[in-house]
Amino acid sequence: MDFALTEELEMIRDSAREFAERALKPHAARVDAEESFPDQALAEAAENGFLGLTVPEEFGGAGLGNLHSAVLLEELNRWDPSVGVTISVHMSLVCSCINKWGTQEQKEKYLPRLASGEMIGAYCLTEPQAGSDAANLKCRADKVDGGWKLNGTKSWITTGEQAGLYLVYAVTDSAGRRGHNIGAFLVERVFDGVVVGKKEAKLGLRGSSTTEMIFEDVLLPEENLLGDGSNGFKIALDTLDGGRIGIASQALGIHRACLEESLQYSKDRQQFGKPIGEFQAIAWKLADMATSLEANRMLVHKAAWLRDAGEPCTKVCSMAKLAASKACNLAAQEAVQIHGGAGYTKEFPVERHYRDARITEIYEGATDIQRLVISRHL
Ligand SMILES: Cc1cc2nc3c(=O)[nH]c(=O)nc-3n(C[C@H](O)[C@H](O)[C@H](O)COP(=O)(O)OP(=O)(O)OC[C@H]3O[C@@H](n4cnc5c(N)ncnc54)[C@H](O)[C@@H]3O)c2cc1C
Repeated sequence: MDFALTEELEMIRDSAREFAERALKPHAARVDAEESFPDQALAEAAENGFLGLTVPEEFGGAGLGNLHSAVLLEELNRWDPSVGVTISVHMSLVCSCINKWGTQEQKEKYLPRLASGEMIGAYCLTEPQAGSDAANLKCRADKVDGGWKLNGTKSWITTGEQAGLYLVYAVTDSAGRRGHNIGAFLVERVFDGVVVGKKEAKLGLRGSSTTEMIFEDVLLPEENLLGDGSNGFKIALDTLDGGRIGIASQALGIHRACLEESLQYSKDRQQFGKPIGEFQAIAWKLADMATSLEANRMLVHKAAWLRDAGEPCTKVCSMAKLAASKACNLAAQEAVQIHGGAGYTKEFPVERHYRDARITEIYEGATDIQRLVISRHL
């Protein structure tokens, strides 16, 4: 057993850290204030090879795994979770899914374009009536000559506005057994009938664009069906195991931001003639934040390591997401408290971290759903 990062992982961490400090740090507050999509940062991330990190080399990527993406995503999310979630969805919900479940032709057609950033991927599962109850889909794909006709509305789609490729889940047999009647489809933005709906005005992650997606009589060629047309829900859940590692890594990044900002502030801010960090009440908060960050990083890396090894990992992925997101929210709360009144203003980044942290407990399975998954495995 070895807890050290390999040389390769250290290299990814260092290059992601350098990139994040140079390309994300200076713009994160503006991106949040203006709700502007960080397209320049994404273009640079693509140039650095981050968008294709988990895509096999034969399709233009780096051929690395979940542990590598966890290390990368912690670094990106340290400075900008809007960029972090865009890349997490692209990489862990779309690229990895096509790589695992796609045909050779689908991989050849889409993975190089996703790896290069020519196309950004979006994952379309949620619908107005199907949130936590994700099998309760109304979006449907009807069999037609040579392919499928897609109709329906998806909610809360990360990168809905900018994506070039949507992985869409739809009912293929309305009389079929729940959860066994769903297909997964690769839908290009340029297909007729693909419409971007309303953009959500959000509490946090304001640079990431979250939209409704409407599919109106979209004709899909047969070769754009991923899987067998009835195992889409199985694909969706399997893919979410990997996605949860991504969101847990996002939580680590925001948690670390809270710790680092608070540590600095507790050295700078003086009250009663000394830095507030010398008061035990503050020092203990910092100790707790640092300890839970370290513990959760190990859990997240273990989940990634299990998935990379092809071992059963659903329970541990949910544990990692549950624990890291809860700890991140507690760290954000403590960070604002340590900053006092200053933490309640936009002068200090912890105000933004506090808002950004909330989402980690909601998407890719809310906290209660992670508990449901874990308890079923006990
Ligand atoms: C910013 C953002 C980005 C997103 N990006 C995407 C995306 O790219 N693609 C996509 O498909 N979806 C996306 N989502 C959707 C997200 O995954 C859902 O919001 C999430 O799964 C929760 O569903 P819901 O919002 O409908 O909440 P609900 O399911 O209505 O849940 C409401 C509350 O009830 C609780 N609850 C529900 N069922 C149970 C139960 N059985 N036991 C106990 N408690 C329960 C939940 O934990 C939650 O606290 C995104 C959401 C947001 C906010």
